[in-house]
Amino acid sequence: MLVKEIKKETYRFDVVIVGGGAAGVGICAMLVNLGVQDLVVLERDEVGASFRNWPKEMRLITPSFTTNFYGNIDLNSVISGTSPAFTLGCEHPTGDEYAYYLDGISKHYNLPILENANVTNIEYVDDFFRISLGDNKPIEARFLIWAAGEFQYPDKQLFPGAELCIHNSEVNSWRKLRGREYCIIGGYESGIDAAVNLSSLGKSVKVFDSSAPWDDRTTDPSLNLSPYTRQRLYEEILNDRIKLIGDSRVERVTKSGGKYRIKFVDKTEEYISSTKPILATGFKSSLSQVTDFFDWHEEESFALLTEDDESTKTPGLFLVGPQVRHDKIIFCFIYKFRQRFGVVANAIGNRLGLDTSVLESYRSEGLYLDDLSCCGEECEC
Ligand SMILES: Cc1cc2nc3c(=O)[nH]c(=O)nc-3n(C[C@H](O)[C@H](O)[C@H](O)COP(=O)(O)OP(=O)(O)OC[C@H]3O[C@@H](n4cnc5c(N)ncnc54)[C@H](O)[C@@H]3O)c2cc1C
Repeated sequence: MLVKEIKKETYRFDVVIVGGGAAGVGICAMLVNLGVQDLVVLERDEVGASFRNWPKEMRLITPSFTTNFYGNIDLNSVISGTSPAFTLGCEHPTGDEYAYYLDGISKHYNLPILENANVTNIEYVDDFFRISLGDNKPIEARFLIWAAGEFQYPDKQLFPGAELCIHNSEVNSWRKLRGREYCIIGGYESGIDAAVNLSSLGKSVKVFDSSAPWDDRTTDPSLNLSPYTRQRLYEEILNDRIKLIGDSRVERVTKSGGKYRIKFVDKTEEYISSTKPILATGFKSSLSQVTDFFDWHEEESFALLTEDDESTKTPGLFLVGPQVRHDKIIFCFIYKFRQRFGVVANAIGNRLGLDTSVLESYRSEGLYLDDLSCCGEECEC
């Protein structure tokens, strides 16, 4: 059921989930299956909103395949018994297609999701979370699951003049960019995706990056280009329109006479662009809305979590989604972060006094991983 309004008199829930994306929908489905009844997902827009806002040509880099039949769920599934490959009939769904899959799950499992519910403030009072929704009556929760993602929180303050550029998350379709030449700042997944799309439309593209991510090779796709992106780059670069320029850390961007001037750290030569530079420099994440509720890693500034993915600072606040990190293990893809749904569901279920044995079946499906010692193996060939 997509909840139209909240009818409860007390407005007090056992569990509130903020965000109706891949993480929020997945953990909600698991909690419903566990028997948690008093819960709601608060979604500021509609289910899968971030995916709907992807550039129209962008596709999931992680492939979907109907592996469920033999006990391995589709790499992009967020809950058992579902497969984007099966629902959508494609291997690399677009953002709109993947949002359709999430919406289908929400309706099929009658998930309690309230759309158009923008969380504007959170307070922690007497062991309860008080959640403000703009002008509406606040909601209270015993447990709060933060699943508000990253995509809607682009990082646009990396260097002076970044505000003169366009962030890749603000591009509706690469077809709508009319110039003949573009420069892209950032050469990881989003930057190379932009370069491949623009080049395939006949544009010349320069990609600047402070290092050279396109040359890195490890088994972890969180740290280097995915096979899908690498393959597309290798094919498109043969058309001689993409130039990859490493060792180019941008110091600032200025604009005069309708041109954009890019100055690099420790370089005398500048780059002049007649089109708006494209920022593919990542996201500051929705955690910027709840910074004070977490302790932070001093050097690498990620949120510190207990072994149940609960804030080390605020009991009852759990994190699900791509920002989950335990030391060097980064859960930034769907197939990674969904593995922690079982851990969070188990912690909350136990505290609500529920029988959590039903969660055991999720282990073999890659939805419940509590032993992280198995992560981090490099491929030998
Ligand atoms: C450009 C890009 C490409 C990616 N490609 C892949 C890929 O191919 N494969 C893969 O596995 N992963 C990919 N990822 C990782 C990606 O982050 C996740 O796959 C996924 O989007 C994360 O799901 P989520 O639910 O945490 O966040 P989102 O999908 O962003 O969902 C968060 C939801 O929270 C809502 N929300 C935000 N703030 C509030 C608020 N204050 N109040 C209420 N609601 C709020 C939003 O409207 C949104 O619907 C990609 C990420 C990016 C940025």
